[in-house]
Amino acid sequence: MFDEPAPLLLNSALMNLLNSILATIISIFPRWIIKPFAKPYVAGETIAEALVHINALNEKGFAATLDILGEHVQTIDEATDITKSYIEILDSISEQNLNCNISIKPTHIGLDISYETAKNNLFTLLAKAKELHSFVRIDMEDSPYTDASIKLYLEALIHYDNVGPVIQAYLRRSTEDIKRLNSEKFNVRICKGIYSESETIALQRKTEINDQFNQLVKAILTGDGYVGIATHDLNLIDALENWISDNEISPDRFEFQVLFGVPMSGHLQSLLAKGYTVRQYVPFGKDWHDYSVRRLKENPSIISYIFKNMFKMD
Ligand SMILES: Cc1cc2nc3c(=O)[nH]c(=O)nc-3n(C[C@H](O)[C@H](O)[C@H](O)COP(=O)(O)OP(=O)(O)OC[C@H]3O[C@@H](n4cnc5c(N)ncnc54)[C@H](O)[C@@H]3O)c2cc1C
Repeated sequence: MFDEPAPLLLNSALMNLLNSILATIISIFPRWIIKPFAKPYVAGETIAEALVHINALNEKGFAATLDILGEHVQTIDEATDITKSYIEILDSISEQNLNCNISIKPTHIGLDISYETAKNNLFTLLAKAKELHSFVRIDMEDSPYTDASIKLYLEALIHYDNVGPVIQAYLRRSTEDIKRLNSEKFNVRICKGIYSESETIALQRKTEINDQFNQLVKAILTGDGYVGIATHDLNLIDALENWISDNEISPDRFEFQVLFGVPMSGHLQSLLAKGYTVRQYVPFGKDWHDYSVRRLKENPSIISYIFKNMFKMD
């Protein structure tokens, strides 16, 4: 009846229990405790540190996208400072000839202050990115920002083609959004969605979310768009890869995307070996704490994994 002997099952049940307790209490840990756990997910605090990681990823064959950690800025000065930092990043990427673009959160460049503030900053970034042949990905935040983020994308698309949104597979509206946005200029990242959303607007069951993820990617690839398939779900990656191969979809229509530091059991190397583009999303900056707590809550087993490494346990 069981695939594994009883002591092993008990062991893994205990680990699961320990992991879920850790995931619950992790938000109240002081920063100095979180910092070693954050390290695998965050590429340092400064642009210079982040660029060292981007160079290393490029050398291994990965493309990258850089994200300055942080969101919900409340003053125009802060939003301007973030925009200037992104400009500095775009310049450095170009100077060092790196295979890397940028990902921005609308509330990090001023959407909480006003739509116009975010739009002006986005357009400043897009003009710079265009000059340097780069690309700006508009990350998708929680549902109060979905409409404004898509509106920002559509307004930007009138003037720029080096811009793309993110669509979250868990949102019930996403099938309609993809139908509306799909075109040959459409360059979208599909991810499952990370925020806690109500059942009225978001699918809750993993099987339903996976199913919608599959359908959205296929809708783009049977249409004219380009898709970043952003997931660590190995079954989903395999299923889509098989479908892509059966349908002879050209590799210039899609790429795989993962978050920096998430263990992928050798899968990324095998995707690279097949000639696919694999892009790592690389966050960095002083605001590493909240981001890392979100990542650790998503996969608390990483905590015991790091403990094992620290103490050389088997
Ligand atoms: C490149 C990229 C960009 C993203 N951009 C956005 C965005 O703009 N907006 C948004 O709402 N969400 C974004 N996300 C997050 C995404 O929505 C999911 O919350 C996250 O990727 C987890 O879902 P999953 O598809 O990996 O599948 P899951 O079913 O959650 O996970 C699959 C497997 O991967 C493991 N895993 C997942 N995450 C981690 C982790 N952090 N550490 C270790 N193991 C992990 C799980 O334990 C599980 O074994 C992005 C994700 C990626 C990869």
